[in-house]
Amino acid sequence: MVCSLFHLGAINAEKSAVRIRKDDLDTSMNRPIVCRQCKEMKCLEGESVVERDEKKKFIWDKRRAESCPFDALTTFGGKAYHCDLCAGKPQCIKVCTPGALSL
Ligand code: SF4
Ligand code: SF4
Repeated sequence: MVCSLFHLGAINAEKSAVRIRKDDLDTSMNRPIVCRQCKEMKCLEGESVVERDEKKKFIWDKRRAESCPFDALTTFGGKAYHCDLCAGKPQCIKVCTPGALSL
């Protein structure tokens, strides 16, 4: 919720760059799914863009989600939501008091 609030000014988990994959067996082993900030960005293959610039962007085209080998991007309404690390101050880490997220 904080991800969409910080970037878009609205609480909408479907427009968040981080999501939770629930364990089907209900063992509470739920995992956060988020961009891994790869050095070699497979998601940008075939595009003539500057990786450094794209890393700073929160909203990407949905097609990049299909190119990501880790299924790391949330998609909604033709857009992909990419973790831009909140310009160096990750908000999700800040508000997660149990400490489930780290960088
Ligand atoms: S979107 Fe996927 S391939 Fe691209 S940097 Fe993130 S994890 Fe890596
Ligand atoms: S670091 Fe920022 S952009 Fe990345 S998932 Fe957390 S709140 Fe969203």
